[in-house]
Amino acid sequence: MSTDDRLLQLRQQLQKASYAYYVMDAPVMEDSVYDQLYRELQKLEAENPDLITPDSPTQRVGEQPSSQFRSVAHNIPLYSLENAFNVQELQQWQERWQRIAPTIEKAEYVCELKIDGSAIALTYENGLLVRGVTRGDGTTGEEISQNIKTIRSIPLKLNLDNPPPTVEVRGEAFLPLEEFNRINHEREAQGESLFANPRNAAAGTLRQLDSKIVHQRRLQFFAYTLHLPGQEDQIQSQWQALEYLKKAGFMVNPHCQLCEGLDGVVEYFEDWEGARQRLPYMTDGVVVKINQYPLQRELGFTQKFPRWAIALKYPAEETPTVVKAIEVNVGRTGAVTPLAVMEPVQLAGTTVQRATLHNQDRIQELDIRVGDTVIIRKAGEIIPEVVRIMAELRPENTTPYIFPTHCPACGSPLVRPLEEAVIRCVNSSCSAILQGSLIHWASRNALDIQGLGEKVVVMLLENRLVNSVADLYRLQVEQLLELERFAQKSAEKLIAAIEVSKSQPWSRILFGLGIRHVGQVNAKLLSQQFPTVEKLSQASIPDLEGVYGIGPEIAEAVVNWFRNPGNQQLIQDLRDLGLVLADQGIDQAKTDSGKLKGKTFVLTGTLPNLSRLEAQELIEQSGGKVTSSVSTKTDYVLLGDKPGSKAAKAESLGIKLLSEAEFLQLLEP
Ligand code: NAD
Repeated sequence: MSTDDRLLQLRQQLQKASYAYYVMDAPVMEDSVYDQLYRELQKLEAENPDLITPDSPTQRVGEQPSSQFRSVAHNIPLYSLENAFNVQELQQWQERWQRIAPTIEKAEYVCELKIDGSAIALTYENGLLVRGVTRGDGTTGEEISQNIKTIRSIPLKLNLDNPPPTVEVRGEAFLPLEEFNRINHEREAQGESLFANPRNAAAGTLRQLDSKIVHQRRLQFFAYTLHLPGQEDQIQSQWQALEYLKKAGFMVNPHCQLCEGLDGVVEYFEDWEGARQRLPYMTDGVVVKINQYPLQRELGFTQKFPRWAIALKYPAEETPTVVKAIEVNVGRTGAVTPLAVMEPVQLAGTTVQRATLHNQDRIQELDIRVGDTVIIRKAGEIIPEVVRIMAELRPENTTPYIFPTHCPACGSPLVRPLEEAVIRCVNSSCSAILQGSLIHWASRNALDIQGLGEKVVVMLLENRLVNSVADLYRLQVEQLLELERFAQKSAEKLIAAIEVSKSQPWSRILFGLGIRHVGQVNAKLLSQQFPTVEKLSQASIPDLEGVYGIGPEIAEAVVNWFRNPGNQQLIQDLRDLGLVLADQGIDQAKTDSGKLKGKTFVLTGTLPNLSRLEAQELIEQSGGKVTSSVSTKTDYVLLGDKPGSKAAKAESLGIKLLSEAEFLQLLEP
């Protein structure tokens, strides 16, 4: 698409969104999506300044006020804030203002939480509230004094003995989350449309024509800006202004902080990243303001924002990007997963350029095409997924995606088993399946072979050095030396790591075999009930289903796996190569003298480094025992992140709680 066309598309889309957001209080896209598209527009305009049009959203502050209320010109404009989306951009902002005011050695910064509400301007004359106005487009807003007077945290009369003739106060009117939810429940019950977020709900409420409704919705207000026209000398810093506002009877956010230098700001930002989730109102970042007024005055304003303040935003969970290609990936089970390859974007703190499209049905449902602008989101915080496409931004001449009919790795026809959403390659010697199996076999929770990651596996396959998991144990140092990546030492190291893996317990080997539905937990269960590979391979479906926790699907998968002649051969080979496919029992000598002999543990929550099974293995190897529930017989509770009720129970019984680090200390010789 030409730059001209993209610019036009972005301008139109953002204008539409901006109108829906500011005038209708009913956004049509997420803020993070708006911000990202806005940045794309800014970037394109910076690269092509001659293509900037006066109606571009980058050229204006807010939206025209709607006509229901009286328009009032602001005495002092209400500017917007420049955004920084990461610490680096914050540093660049500091460098920029330092170039303008090079004589200043050190700036003090006031950090304020960026409350997600609606900015309003209040005017007091001789101490009395005479007017309240919305921000509007920054120069003109709507007079909503009647509504403002219903907000209990806004004083109608200033608490000052000799108030200056005029006091202008700006701040954020917002709806606490509880109130926001209550209002939406009520609207739902009455069949009315819901507010998209507390910010729009606050803006919508402020512009209600019926003040009684405003009164019922308990808006609150945090003050953050003070102007004393004609008496500017009285206040010399933002911090003093906040103190003044508190004294005058306003609510000032209690979490404001004065920081010296950017390090303090970054610390504040990081501290609040998690803590803000527990606040009773929504925040989306930190507003950083230079404290000293003389310096603020020296820096002044751009057309849109003050140069002395910036909003540092918390990373978005959703963001738009453009699809460059659609690819399919064949996993170790043969499942063919489509992926969107996208323009790299920042998402919740990491750079993302691939997102899962799950399966063919999902692709059809989305009608996703190369060239589309899509919204992606982190699913379960790890793998990003495509949430939806923005059809309005689709370029011309795109074509629907056609799912491949043959495996991209081995060329055999793909199959879609009945009643499954997944399309599979069923060629057991497919190189992609083999690659996935080898990576899984060597992975940390399976055979844990150090140094055998994806890159090495690919190289071994490309050079035809391995053709099965068993072949790993036939590898020789000399063979590795022929590969570009290996020198004598590294080759010896890998061969040694492969050798060491032979002594991994039966449960890990079973997990490593990659039988469908047999994850770590099931592998542990099965290996306990069937302590040798013979016993497991001879088990019938009812035998398997007899194991607590093993259902019919898993039982069938295990039986089918052992029926396959290729798999029988693999087991035979592994055994011949010296792997012990049986429970070797726990080393009794070690257990008897173990540090945790006779101690009973309960695990709860997610540990920072160890998996549950690893922790359990460590406890058992040292003579301890793991049980599932806390009782007076429990000696320790090993506590991870997001613990369950077990932690509280342990506390009430006075049982010692251990962090992972403390636990590992216990094991130290
Ligand atoms: P902004 O929200 O990024 O920052 C300025 C605002 O921050 C102020 O007006 C004020 O309301 C608020 N604020 C909160 N705490 C503050 C504090 N302590 N000090 C100063 N200000 C504080 O800028 P903006 O120009 O109001 O709006 C742009 C934002 O609106 C964008 O981030 C965008 O995501 C959103 N937007 C969304 C859509 C959409 O369709 N979703 C459309 C238009 C705009």
